[in-house]
Amino acid sequence: GTPTAVTVIGLGPMGRAMAGALLRAGHAVTVWNRTPGRADDLVAAGARRAPSPADAVAASGLTILSLTDYQAMYDILGPVADDRRRPGVLAGRTLANLSSDTPDASREAAAWAADRGASFLTGGVMVPAPAIGHPGSYVFYSGPEDVFEVHEPALSVVGQPKYLGADPGLAQLFYQAHLDVFLTALSSLLHATALVTAAGVPAADFLPGALATLTDIPEMIGDGSQLARQLEAGEHPGDLSTTLMMGATADHIVRTSARAGVDVRLPEAVRSHYERAIAAGHGTRNWTALYEVIRADG
Ligand code: NDP
Repeated sequence: GTPTAVTVIGLGPMGRAMAGALLRAGHAVTVWNRTPGRADDLVAAGARRAPSPADAVAASGLTILSLTDYQAMYDILGPVADDRRRPGVLAGRTLANLSSDTPDASREAAAWAADRGASFLTGGVMVPAPAIGHPGSYVFYSGPEDVFEVHEPALSVVGQPKYLGADPGLAQLFYQAHLDVFLTALSSLLHATALVTAAGVPAADFLPGALATLTDIPEMIGDGSQLARQLEAGEHPGDLSTTLMMGATADHIVRTSARAGVDVRLPEAVRSHYERAIAAGHGTRNWTALYEVIRADG
């Protein structure tokens, strides 16, 4: 269809990349940012600088928000939305908030928007700003499916949309769960490098092999569908990688870290999973039995 009008509020690295991609795709783009100078390059490229948040929202059916957190949305739109002299600024509009926060914050924001007559979509952006608008970029969405479908063509410019369902918290949950894997893996990579360099071994001798260890994980687990079935069923078959055997190694990593004077908190957290699983009687089961203590903490 014909490119629609889109507003982008929040011009950090991410919002600027989104507005730039929308302009290149032929959309009429209106932008607003608390620090106005961050819009200069976009205005030079054809975007319209809205004089106020109210004007920005009024310019387009769809407003994308790319801010540090959800509080920033209330800071920007709260005074406008609740200004009695300007009734219904949000009425009939769609807000797509692509900022990070908790799933509960997204649910509250959807209710807040609904109270003011607006539709609300939650987005979780899964790529860094330079990848926005390029192949491989993807974004999780949740919220009303009919609203998502109306705006899908414009949202597709930013990245491939992956719609998860009506619960506004879902996209935020998926974003965080992916980042849980990502951030923990990144910390472990740095921790392991510190362990090796503390022994005088150059990082370059270690890191390429360590990255291969990361890619060995999908090889071991497959596409995840079998693991998913086993975790859901509480089944932990196999005696090649038992909780006892892996737990002994987890303990060795803690002791080696302590001896080397590098951080022990990360390997201690991992060791505690094994210790608690063993204490709960999962020692001779597959390492996946850790799931039983991880999911039922406290
Ligand atoms: P920033 O945190 O740098 O975004 C800053 C934007 O939020 C700026 O426009 C800033 O305005 C605005 N802002 C913050 N607080 C307020 C406030 N109280 N009132 C008004 N405006 C405010 O991050 P990015 O642009 O990098 O990211 C935006 C979102 O995208 C974040 O939620 C981030 O987690 C998410 N994301 C980012 C990725 C990345 O690689 N960058 C990857 C995936 C998701 P001002 O310019 O005036 O300071």
